Amino acid sequence: MRLDALVAWASKRLAGAGSPTPRLDAEVLLCHVLGVERTWLYTWGDRPATSYARARFEALVAARAAGHPVAYLTGVREFWGLALATSRHTLIPRPDTETLVEVLLELASEPSGRLLDLGTGTGAIALAFASERPGWEALGVDRVPEAVALAESNAGRLGIANARFLHSDWFTALAEERFALVAANPPYIDAKDPHLAQGDVRFEPSSALVAAEAGLADLRHLAERGMAHLSAGGWLVLEHGHDQAAAVRRLLEAYGYVAIASRRDLGGQERVTFG
Ligand code: GLN
Repeated sequence: MRLDALVAWASKRLAGAGSPTPRLDAEVLLCHVLGVERTWLYTWGDRPATSYARARFEALVAARAAGHPVAYLTGVREFWGLALATSRHTLIPRPDTETLVEVLLELASEPSGRLLDLGTGTGAIALAFASERPGWEALGVDRVPEAVALAESNAGRLGIANARFLHSDWFTALAEERFALVAANPPYIDAKDPHLAQGDVRFEPSSALVAAEAGLADLRHLAERGMAHLSAGGWLVLEHGHDQAAAVRRLLEAYGYVAIASRRDLGGQERVTFG
C-alpha cells in the first residue's frame, strides 16, 4: 500500500474512534515510524510502505484509536519549537502554556535574573524560557523524580545550559532562595470535572491535573508561599483553568500581590494570571 493511502486509511479509522485531529495524528505517527518529517511525507506519499513499517504503523494507530495520546506513542511533543521528550510521568505540554511563556518573556526585562518553574514536568516552561533568555538562569523543580530526570535529559539533548532541575515538592527543597520570576502550571482541574473522562487526560498522571478545593488548592498554596521566594519587584505567574481567573485574582490579592493581570490563551480563554 502507498504511504498516502495508509494515511487516508488511518485518518478515517481515527476519526471514527473520536480523535479530534485524525489526519494530523495519522501523519505524525507514520512519520515517527519512518523517521521522517511531515514535509517528506507530502513529497514521497506515492512510495509503497514496507511491510515492517506498515505493521508498526497499524499497531500505533490501534493504540491511538484506543485513546492513547500521540505524544506518549511517539515519546515526543513540540513546545515553543523545542522537541521535548515526554513520558507517562509528566503532563504533555500544551499550546495553552505557551501563553505563560510569552508572559514570562515580557516580564523578564532585565538582561539577567533567575526564574523558578514549579512542577516542571518535561521542563517545558523552564526550557522554553531559558532558550529565549541566555542571560537568565532557569530552575525547574518537580516532586516526581522521573520528571526531574526527563527534564534534565531534555535540557541536555537540546543543549540548553542555563536550565537546571531539582527534586522538590513545590518550595520544600529551596530554603530561602528568591527569584525574579516564579511560574507554575500546577494541577487545577476539579476531580468531578467531566473533562477528565475524555481524551489525552485519561492517560496523564492525575497528580499533574487534579487539585482539591474545586481545583484551586495548589494555586492557593503557590500564591501563599510564592511571595517569600520572590525578589523585590518579582512576579508570580500562574496558569489556571478557563473559569478560574477571577478566583486566582482574589487569591493573589488576599496574599498581598499587586499589579495583578490576566492573559488570554490562543483559544480566547483567560489562562494565565500574574502579580
Ligand atoms: N490545561 C490542561 C487541560 O485542561 C490541564 C493542565 C493542568 O491541570 N495544569 O487538559
